[in-house]
Amino acid sequence: MATRLSGPPAAEALLAQTARRAAALATPPHLVIVRVGEDPASVSYVRGKAKKAGEIGLRGTVHALPDTTPQAELLALIAGLNADPGVHGILVQLPLPGHIDPAPVLEAIDPNKDVDGFHPVNVGRLWTGQPALSPCTPAGIMALLAHYEVQVAGKVVVIVGRSTLVGRPLAALMLGADATVTLAHSRTRDLAAVTRGADVLVVAVGRAGLITPDMVRPGAVVVDVGINRVLDDAGKAHLTGDVHPDVSQVAGALTPVPGGVGPMTVAQLMANTVQAAERQADRRAAPIPGVLGEHAH
Ligand code: NAD
Repeated sequence: MATRLSGPPAAEALLAQTARRAAALATPPHLVIVRVGEDPASVSYVRGKAKKAGEIGLRGTVHALPDTTPQAELLALIAGLNADPGVHGILVQLPLPGHIDPAPVLEAIDPNKDVDGFHPVNVGRLWTGQPALSPCTPAGIMALLAHYEVQVAGKVVVIVGRSTLVGRPLAALMLGADATVTLAHSRTRDLAAVTRGADVLVVAVGRAGLITPDMVRPGAVVVDVGINRVLDDAGKAHLTGDVHPDVSQVAGALTPVPGGVGPMTVAQLMANTVQAAERQADRRAAPIPGVLGEHAH
């Protein structure tokens, strides 16, 4: 039976460390979350993130805008937040309403305040090995593996799913940690042959039961990122991952869904906010003119 890599203890450890770092700063790190419209999942995610910030000594502010908000108005709000030295992290909750193009909105955020790590400058910094704000789910996966002392250096890591949210940035983080990385996706030929080669298998697809026991090398570490809403025999909805439950008979260690990667994502957002605040404080103490992304203030 696979060891259970439970998210909450790892998330608590990351939050405790983050709270200590926050307390060492002159002012509490301030995270501003912008939500446009009333998508029920977004409303709940945003509330959860702001609440968690308050619990660990950060400031969390939510700007909730109507779903008719023009793109220009959203861009003006972001410009104001960028210029405000009292704001350290800015997160625009996705998805945005259909009339707003997400790319220019994400690119409008100051890369040094981009706590979701989606700005192309942060993507570039991540892939070139420079200090970067990294997307929260993949960075949270690295923190989860570190918490359970799962080594990735020199290991074969196979990631299934190539989204800009999870798979691609996780590939960059794994490369940075000296893993040998394969990124598989919907067009991969003979997926089972690829996944069987993994010492560490990460699955971020969004398809319940995609990974079956025959696709996993005995003893492998399996990280299940998928979140799927399925109906049981009684017609009751519950959450399940991308990994079939029988994989626990083969794997050496496995993250559960729910209660695995999920809690790490919010904890990592708090860590990113503190990281952004620390770097902004350092830059104000010792400004280096001309450095990429340097603030005017
Ligand atoms: P996405 O839809 O953007 O990407 C899915 C990826 O899976 C694509 O790259 C696609 O090529 C690949 N894929 C699709 N079908 C496949 C198949 N049959 N075989 C192999 N690859 C296939 O999804 P995403 O945003 O990366 O999210 C993936 C899953 O992770 C979803 O279930 C999402 O809910 C979950 N998720 C969880 C968290 C968390 O905090 N736990 C965070 C983000 C996403």
